[in-house]
Amino acid sequence: MKDTAVQRNCPTCGTAEATPIAAYSPGDWQLATCAGCGLTYLRNPPAYEALEEDFAWEKTYEKKKERGPGSTPLSPVVRRLRGALFGHRDKTESFRRWFRDGHVLDIGCGTGDRIKPPMTPYGIELSNALHAQADATMRAAGGYCQHGAGAEAIWNFDERQFDGIVMFSYLEHEVDVMGVLKGAHRALKDSGAVFVRVPNYGSLNRRIIGPKWCGFRYPDHVNYFTLRTLTDTARRAGFTTQLINRVSRPIDDNISVLLRKAAA
Ligand SMILES: [Zn+2]
Repeated sequence: MKDTAVQRNCPTCGTAEATPIAAYSPGDWQLATCAGCGLTYLRNPPAYEALEEDFAWEKTYEKKKERGPGSTPLSPVVRRLRGALFGHRDKTESFRRWFRDGHVLDIGCGTGDRIKPPMTPYGIELSNALHAQADATMRAAGGYCQHGAGAEAIWNFDERQFDGIVMFSYLEHEVDVMGVLKGAHRALKDSGAVFVRVPNYGSLNRRIIGPKWCGFRYPDHVNYFTLRTLTDTARRAGFTTQLINRVSRPIDDNISVLLRKAAA
């Protein structure tokens, strides 16, 4: 594992100095908080090549599924509050409205069925197996899926090609955060929007549960955003941030936002 790991500076601001968090750094993994901007991130993530096969996300996901629903540690108080606040998980109606039934790119698209007609689906997927499946699905609906890492493949699309870009449980995996966000800024129409959903490192649940919080996944999750650090990161790439799950966010294990191009 150490052979493929790379040491990195803060993916948001480039600062090298960071405060290690021993309680959240199991084994050889090094979680730390940036001294410059306050982002918490994994200092020694695996290289992309290792993720294509060895740490492919779908495998981790399958393992998680095998443990079954309800296996995620959750404090009873938070569970009750969340049940009262959360609606359905399917975002299709929201995507159709925000992206006006246009051309929509799903980065880290998995099996490729998140963007449904009448939207035209495009994707980027790193996992070999998932890419093949997604590309077939998307071509049948008028789009296609690129194989590769999000921060690299996004530059292959045209400028201002998309009405919407979706980063659903993706940005916490991406080593090159600024690369993909700047690429998204370029590939997005001026009237478009980017939907981002990431684990909420600032959640009440994480503070209560600590190291066993469901948002910790080593080494799959390499960035741990709060609303503040996510907003700051997006601003550096030229975006303004609108919080979607405003009411539930403090106790939500995820943050959902819409990014729009900031006025030049
Ligand atoms: Zn930083």
